[in-house]
Amino acid sequence: MSYELQVLNPATEEVVASVPATTAAEVDAAVARAAKAQQGWAAAAPADRARLLRRFAVVVDEHLEELARLEVREAGHTIGNARWEAGNVRDLLDFAAGGVERLSGRQIPVAGGLDITILEPLGVIGVIAPWNFPMPIAAWGTAPALAAGNAVLLKPAETTPLTALRLAELALEAGLPQDLFQVLPGAGDVAGSALVEHPGVAKIVFTGSTRVGKSIMARCAERVKRVTLELGGKSPNIVFADSDIEAAVAATPMSFLDNSGQDCCARTRILVQRSVYDRFLQLLAPAIESVVVGDPGDEKTQMGPLISRVQLDRVRSYVTDELQGIRGTAPEGPGFWFPPTVLTGLAPDAPAACEEVFGPVAVVLPFEDEADAIRLANSTEYGLSGSIWTRDIGRAIRVSRAVTAGNLSVNSHSSVRYWTPFGGYKQSGLGRELGPDALTAFTETKNVFISTEA
Ligand code: NAD
Repeated sequence: MSYELQVLNPATEEVVASVPATTAAEVDAAVARAAKAQQGWAAAAPADRARLLRRFAVVVDEHLEELARLEVREAGHTIGNARWEAGNVRDLLDFAAGGVERLSGRQIPVAGGLDITILEPLGVIGVIAPWNFPMPIAAWGTAPALAAGNAVLLKPAETTPLTALRLAELALEAGLPQDLFQVLPGAGDVAGSALVEHPGVAKIVFTGSTRVGKSIMARCAERVKRVTLELGGKSPNIVFADSDIEAAVAATPMSFLDNSGQDCCARTRILVQRSVYDRFLQLLAPAIESVVVGDPGDEKTQMGPLISRVQLDRVRSYVTDELQGIRGTAPEGPGFWFPPTVLTGLAPDAPAACEEVFGPVAVVLPFEDEADAIRLANSTEYGLSGSIWTRDIGRAIRVSRAVTAGNLSVNSHSSVRYWTPFGGYKQSGLGRELGPDALTAFTETKNVFISTEA
């Protein structure tokens, strides 16, 4: 049955576009075309594949401002962030292109012959992306998968299909073979499910909620289909009394307000050593109150709206009027606005303190000592990111080792670079994306023994 997706501007609630959505039968046809295109792509000379991906990066760069403005309109991202996101697609394509000719197998010593490993492409890859970082997350799966010799079918989130569709056009403009990279906008339980269940799709790369990720993993298990999962987070920002408190405070607002808090790495559990707890909050209040929330197309804006009314209602459900804390400001009127919010006085197991809110809301919890900080940091089902603020190098190393999360930073909040590995512990995910091994995740290792005795 045919249906359409309506794309709204989250800052104004105006309709930006209506996009025809992909039916299950259309997914079938797309898989067949992709499988054919993949054979030619895998057989092409590595240098030619690399050259085409580099050309794709150049074309993305030439359209960077257009892509960024599209992201502002469909996702409400601030223009500065949106430019970074389009640039991230370009950089990832370049990085992956550099891997095509370096995707080497090994030679392993054996008696009586020669033993080699060959890294073969998997075939057709299904990338299912969320709405919070539509362009980068699409590219994290797509670029290395293509570089390793696969075809890609990308299903963007229902609310944010436009940049993905434009990237598919730019791929063709760059000269990538027809059908090698197709974008299939559609509902998760229609187009997404069809990809997950299709026998012709060799691997699913999923980024989204833990709930949907679990269901995808279970369905992939039916066919032993390969799967990478990037799921939710509730990441700690641990501030020790021996840290540079001013620096820790200055970095705190955007560590959970960037992208309006719709960031799986958002540092939404701020753990502060009790001896500096009051001072930290005193300094934090003006920093939160002065965050500029408004028109995402304005260069000075630091935080835009939430993606949708559904998300706004979800965030509101965690922040009831009687809760104490610090509140910033947000525009009134149309758009899905929520002010920067820091909650205090909550128990560590309160819903806002341990569930992923996915909005501009953090909690501050006091801790006594290093052991207490580690216990609190590890006391959620998630394990994606975290930050540790201390001047004591030994403590920084001890705590980095003890926190069960995939991406930690000391005296900073950075966690995602396309050339370093990214992924979650526990229920934050399975497998790793990006980094030096990004291409290998899209290959199967074949071992071949060649006898010298015959
Ligand atoms: P979601 O799980 O609802 O949707 C993600 C994608 O899955 C969408 O494209 C959706 O259409 C599709 N989908 C939904 N149901 C499906 C089904 N039954 N079968 C196949 N596909 C289906 O998540 P969301 O609301 O779009 O994104 C927000 C979530 O993503 C947050 O929980 C966040 O933490 C997580 N996230 C994680 C990372 C990470 O790298 N770990 C990055 C970004 C977002």
